[in-house]
Amino acid sequence: MDAFSPPVAPPPAALSADAIRLPPLPRRVFCNRTLNLRSVQVIGCDMDYTLVHYDSERWERSAYEHMKRAFQARGWPVNELRFDPELASLGLVIDIERGNLVKANRFGHVRNASHGTMVLDFDTWLSVYGTAPVDLAESRWQFMNTLFSLSEACLYMQLVDLLDLGKLEPGLSYRALYQEVRRVLDATHLEGALKSEILSDPSHYVILDEELPRTLWELKAAGKKLLLITNSEWSYTQSMMSYAFDRFLPSGNWRELFSFVIVQARKPEFFSRRAPVFRLVDEPSRYTPHIGPLVEGEVYLGGDARLVEASLRVEPDHILYIGDHIFADVHVSKDLLRWRTALIVRELERELEALVAFRPAQAQLDVAMTEKVLLEHQLSGLRLTHLRNTRQPPPGFDPERSNAEIRALRGRLVELDQRIAPLARQSSELLNVRWGPIMRCGSDKSHLARQIERYADLYMSRVSNLLAYTPFAYLRAPRVSLPHEIDIE
Ligand code: IMP
Ligand code: MG
Repeated sequence: MDAFSPPVAPPPAALSADAIRLPPLPRRVFCNRTLNLRSVQVIGCDMDYTLVHYDSERWERSAYEHMKRAFQARGWPVNELRFDPELASLGLVIDIERGNLVKANRFGHVRNASHGTMVLDFDTWLSVYGTAPVDLAESRWQFMNTLFSLSEACLYMQLVDLLDLGKLEPGLSYRALYQEVRRVLDATHLEGALKSEILSDPSHYVILDEELPRTLWELKAAGKKLLLITNSEWSYTQSMMSYAFDRFLPSGNWRELFSFVIVQARKPEFFSRRAPVFRLVDEPSRYTPHIGPLVEGEVYLGGDARLVEASLRVEPDHILYIGDHIFADVHVSKDLLRWRTALIVRELERELEALVAFRPAQAQLDVAMTEKVLLEHQLSGLRLTHLRNTRQPPPGFDPERSNAEIRALRGRLVELDQRIAPLARQSSELLNVRWGPIMRCGSDKSHLARQIERYADLYMSRVSNLLAYTPFAYLRAPRVSLPHEIDIE
């Protein structure tokens, strides 16, 4: 293997806190469960939105236009519809029973919703959902697992509007409408036209990352076996990987990084079922059935995770799988196989930048909320005293004065709420005016954040964030705060 030169950075001369310089916040690796990278022997990588990052607005606009054309061809009245990247965001949930898009908190409680493209007010969504939690195991709820879901959600919501206006087939249910959108989306991804468009001008769609090939090269140089496991087909994989990697590698060939490549892996089933495997024998796509362990340097189609484990003779907890799809990449590989997992969430970069910029306003909001808690406590005390004194008036008790004190305090709370409201609104509009930050839901974690916490040992905006940590890092989960410890801290 050719070497990169010069080396990234000399090791620090003396160990001190200053010597450990963390990258800027948006480029850090975040850790839910401690992972010693030294003990990782195999790193499996997803391709789309993991090793190859797309400009999601452009990719999704193209996917949307292809879907729209499919509906136009069927005579649906979709001519006026336009892709709107702000209508939906990662981690939202489509309620296909009601034609709604919802944002849920850590407990699955709905905290914001739209019906079609129309945002619902607080009273409406509360009366519809109450505290019944979103259960992703039910087919009613479709989680937006990946950036590939943006075009689907946008078009579905716009079609719900048309259905409500009576412009679609009478009697079509919201569920049946969703199934139509899914079918068309699947066909769009599987048929050649969209992929051909991407391949004809990758520079329009792909955002290059010069540090990524170096990151993988160093992981490999440190003794880890790298695998590429993608649902994409070989010709697309070959073109995309070559476009994104070859120019940055001394050898000019991305294949040198990977022990073997598995295409059309059919994740998530790849992690849960056994499946036949085929070896690529001739470009562009002639395969032969393959029996036995997977062999270094080859390209395979299909197969399954158990075959990977057996071929490399490696225990599940020494395999790290990195992907962007919360269900197909990290949920199943963690749940069923106990592989170590890392989720790539590119949106984190913009989210963290927005949070940092909002910090002064957040500090004001925190102060105002503390004041509110104190005033509310004071008000409760005054009301209780008033109640007691009214029942058994002590000498000199003046009910009018007591009521006036209560009114004055309520007035202060109203004033305070007027200060809090615009700050709270700004905080809920960070990243996306409609849906707010992807990882937060008010003062709680979002449902997406909870999924990440459960299934991803690590999460980061890009694979290349690992570069600054080195292949030898001991990635420690931070000590978490529990509600009863906050005041101690
Ligand atoms: P991976 O992320 O590298 O495993 O590849 C994802 C592949 O799945 C890409 O080829 C996408 O075009 C394809 N894909 C993404 N979303 C869908 C979908 O909803 N239906 C069918 N294929 C999809
Ligand atoms: Mg992917």
